[in-house]
Amino acid sequence: MLDEITKTWNPVIGCLHNCSYCWARGLAETRLTHIEKYKDGFKPKLAEYELSKRFRKKYVFAVDMGDLFGDWVPKEWILKVLDAIKNSPSSYFLFLTKNPKRYSEFLDVYPENLVLGATIETNREYKVSNAPSTHERYKSMVDLSYPTKLVSIEPIIDFDLEEFVKWIKDIQPIQVHVGYANYNHHLPEPSLSKTRNLMALLSQFTKVKTLRIREKYD
Ligand code: SF4
Repeated sequence: MLDEITKTWNPVIGCLHNCSYCWARGLAETRLTHIEKYKDGFKPKLAEYELSKRFRKKYVFAVDMGDLFGDWVPKEWILKVLDAIKNSPSSYFLFLTKNPKRYSEFLDVYPENLVLGATIETNREYKVSNAPSTHERYKSMVDLSYPTKLVSIEPIIDFDLEEFVKWIKDIQPIQVHVGYANYNHHLPEPSLSKTRNLMALLSQFTKVKTLRIREKYD
């Protein structure tokens, strides 16, 4: 059930992390502006009409066009999304954030069909966005007491193998996604062999899902 995302759902859109490799912002500000919720581009917004949607036996990536747990998101928006999820008990929902410290605010209201994910592209401190540092995200995920956690290493950025594996092990995710950026954003990428090595080590203690894997851009 938790292998393939079968739906995306965006009751909240927009993001202020300003990642250099963000594809969602580009899409929101160009091809999607004819849709009501994107008429202000990537400005954070709650699309109330999306909250009435129901899903049956799907694995839903919730808010892939933004970051639901960004510091700018009002608590009421998050509570509304969590309430809406309770109406689709046969489906699972994946959240992915670069601000996982906010997950702990809602521990007593999470429905059971949630996977709480964090993007951690590397263990190093490359400045590719305004999001909390990868080390801060790592610490928040370690501190988060929740049974179904996920780490997304996408887009993968060069890392220190031993240290990065330790980070993921400390977090104890049920699954790790690994993938390179879809386009050349001039990120300092690891070599393909280094990435494969990482994946092999991770698969010794968690499930590794392979996303886009390729040779690094020069
Ligand atoms: S966190 Fe995601 S949605 Fe937000 S700017 Fe970065 S890539 Fe875009």
